[in-house]
Amino acid sequence: MNDCLFCKIIKGEIPSTKVYEDEFVYAFLDIDPQAPFHAVIVPKIHIKSTDEISGENSMYIAKIFEAVAKIAKYENLENGYRVVNNCGVDGGQTVGHIHFHLLARRNLQWPPG
Ligand code: AMP
Ligand code: ZN
Repeated sequence: MNDCLFCKIIKGEIPSTKVYEDEFVYAFLDIDPQAPFHAVIVPKIHIKSTDEISGENSMYIAKIFEAVAKIAKYENLENGYRVVNNCGVDGGQTVGHIHFHLLARRNLQWPPG
């Protein structure tokens, strides 16, 4: 847990550009943006991936989606956006602390690559 990149970002031990924060959630700009607006939203507890969501911690996931709605309003994303969660190797997860990408301000294609 001490080695977790996103836990360090939440604690301020690694710098980030904050987009939103509350008691449950921290959101910051992705260092390698895949869209003109690309934020990463994480719970303030260490949950490894979607595989570890349970009745004990799912409130944090609900809080993440509440944060998405707030960020979308604040950032004027009225044209729409995409929320992405990568889980595990095949899902393309590279950081082992559950997170949701919020991508916006370009016309995103479907299906993704
Ligand atoms: P994933 O591939 O879904 O695990 O996403 C991890 C994301 O974290 C990638 O989009 C990275 O660009 C992003 N990322 C990694 N390190 C940092 C950092 N120090 N600050 C901001 N974003 C980061
Ligand atoms: Zn963590």
